[in-house]
Amino acid sequence: MSDNQIVDNDTDVKIINTGCCHDCGGRCTLKAHVKNGKIIRFETDNGDEPQLRACARGRAYRQKLYSPDRLKYPMRRIGERGEGKFERISWDEALDTVANKLNEVKDKYGNSSILFIPGAGNQGMLHGVTPVGVMLNNFGGYTRMWGIPSYEGALFASMATYGTMMTGSAREDLLNSKLIIMWGWNPANTVWDPGTPLMLAKAREKGIKIIVIDPIFTDSAAILAEKWIPIRPGTDTAMLNAMAYVIITENLHDKAFIEKYTVGFEKYNAYLMGEDDNTPKTPEWAEEITTIPAETIKDLAREYAKNKPAALLAGWGPARTARGEQYSRAANV
Ligand code: SF4
Repeated sequence: MSDNQIVDNDTDVKIINTGCCHDCGGRCTLKAHVKNGKIIRFETDNGDEPQLRACARGRAYRQKLYSPDRLKYPMRRIGERGEGKFERISWDEALDTVANKLNEVKDKYGNSSILFIPGAGNQGMLHGVTPVGVMLNNFGGYTRMWGIPSYEGALFASMATYGTMMTGSAREDLLNSKLIIMWGWNPANTVWDPGTPLMLAKAREKGIKIIVIDPIFTDSAAILAEKWIPIRPGTDTAMLNAMAYVIITENLHDKAFIEKYTVGFEKYNAYLMGEDDNTPKTPEWAEEITTIPAETIKDLAREYAKNKPAALLAGWGPARTARGEQYSRAANV
């Protein structure tokens, strides 16, 4: 928390400006109302637009902070693995145990035998990847996993399709869309960019149609979508391929753009038409896989192709599956 405090003398409540530490790309404003050393509630940015307004997850931070299940002390396992038996130990004992083990492993096998797998889901200064990485570097080095558990699929797809690590438009550009498809993306709870909720709300006010594709009826689907299409988890690639099949077979694709700016269309087309595997990626084929009716897939493909410009916002979640990078690639294409 910062020292930026406002004291309300009437209620003995200090309001401390801080930020949400969830690693969702938002870094939204939280104002902690503290009474007698305890946070009694959070509010967020209520100032002029554009606000850095926290989502419901961030504003529910007290549940995490004061959860009876929160790990507050070092605990040592005393039972069998998986048995769930632990005892509390002192910080000194915990630090000595870890330090001795690190020294032992380093002496015996070298620094490269120390595997550090980060992924805290929290970018607070004491909990993120950086402090442990710095400490292990000062210790002589370590081995780290290749790739990123969070968005490796999207990253790979962007590199393979566009040749860049990141692609996309500014959030403000959503207001120029005629159709917004939110695929596996729930910014009501993880915004990516604090400007997102405002732009989506403005898009909705402007009458831009928003469609959500997600196995879950998310908060975003509830408050933003004109239509929610539930999909069987992990089958998004099939649906996207079937949409491409419809767009191409109904001659709705932009041939001039493909001719001028892309390579490999013939191969992609051959795959969609089933020339490689005798399986045309038809909406009927995708219905079996996704549980989404073929007619719904056809309608969405036509709507997407005919409403220009349309925004397809492909979230990272569906790519966190086996071969999930193919979903990101299918969305990019
Ligand atoms: S969007 Fe929600 S979870 Fe993400 S930083 Fe903002 S408040 Fe936290």
